[in-house]
Amino acid sequence: MSTVPPASPHAPAPVAVAPVKRVAPEAPMRDVMGGDARWEIPCLDHGFVALVDCMPRLVPEGKTGDFAIVQAARVSYGQGTKQVSEDRGLVRYLMRHRHSTPFEMVEFKFHIAMPIFVARQWIRHRTANVNEYSARYSIVPDRFYRPDVESVRKQSKSNRQGGDEPIEAGTAEEFLGLLERAEAHYKEYLALTEKGVARELARAALPVSVYTEWYWKCDLHNIYHFLSLRMDPHAQLEIQVFARAMYELMKPIVPVSCEAFEDYRLDAMHLTKLEIEAVRSGKPLATENKREVAEWEAKRARLGM
Ligand SMILES: Cc1cc2nc3c(=O)[nH]c(=O)nc-3n(C[C@H](O)[C@H](O)[C@H](O)COP(=O)(O)OP(=O)(O)OC[C@H]3O[C@@H](n4cnc5c(N)ncnc54)[C@H](O)[C@@H]3O)c2cc1C
Repeated sequence: MSTVPPASPHAPAPVAVAPVKRVAPEAPMRDVMGGDARWEIPCLDHGFVALVDCMPRLVPEGKTGDFAIVQAARVSYGQGTKQVSEDRGLVRYLMRHRHSTPFEMVEFKFHIAMPIFVARQWIRHRTANVNEYSARYSIVPDRFYRPDVESVRKQSKSNRQGGDEPIEAGTAEEFLGLLERAEAHYKEYLALTEKGVARELARAALPVSVYTEWYWKCDLHNIYHFLSLRMDPHAQLEIQVFARAMYELMKPIVPVSCEAFEDYRLDAMHLTKLEIEAVRSGKPLATENKREVAEWEAKRARLGM
């Protein structure tokens, strides 16, 4: 017996959809990852950044992933010319003028394993799509970040948030001993989960040096924002390691836009109104704010002034 209700005389007519028209590419297409499943770079002692997919994955022979940026931009600017050299000029123009939406047409998906204290900084970048390992659902693997003795750094005096030169070996060893004792909680964590303590609660006993992992997908515009903050020398060294690895994985796929990113953002410099006035007048910076003056001195040094 049919359970389908009778069609109401007032039901709207079904919307007609035309059949799919399949269009072959103008040129043969190539896989920007060369058919590989992943490209991976190890980071720190147990971490990695792996590129697992991207968009566009297929591009016309002779082109790079930058193709998708140009393709989208031409919707705004019309066909123009299609020369590769002009594509480069267009990408560089878009980067210089912060016309950012064409860069959002490119996406990268990464699989990353990093210590939780790195993940906490990373997750502040809200425009990515993230799916993380669940320590409620599964046992946390026995992987903890422990730097080398030479990488244990002193608290910086100039930057309250940073560390700078290595601390003397005795104190470094003492710190590594502390990390080792914190890692020793792992055995108890495991034993107590075996006794029935919920994994979601038991994990509270683990230090933030324990590794987590996630899939992280983001568009190129927002990845550049992430990289400009996290490849910067002011970012914590450990997250810089991951950001630099991510950049190395992307560069062969979007070389033109990465070059523009380096030229106009990463290695570029912003001048404030006061700084422009100081250059123009040849006078000192018109402020008594010590930090601002120090920043201006650093810029002057870069400019060879
Ligand atoms: C060196 C350094 C030190 C830091 N120190 C601290 C600290 O001490 N304490 C701390 O809490 N954080 C700290 N942060 C984190 C920082 O404040 C930002 O949260 C982080 O860098 C992410 O930046 P974002 O919001 O621009 O990035 P994303 O979240 O990736 O956002 C990208 C852009 O999208 C837009 N956007 C995204 N979401 C929104 C929204 N909801 N509303 C409006 N606009 C949005 C904004 O324009 C934003 O710039 C630090 C970051 C760095 C790099």
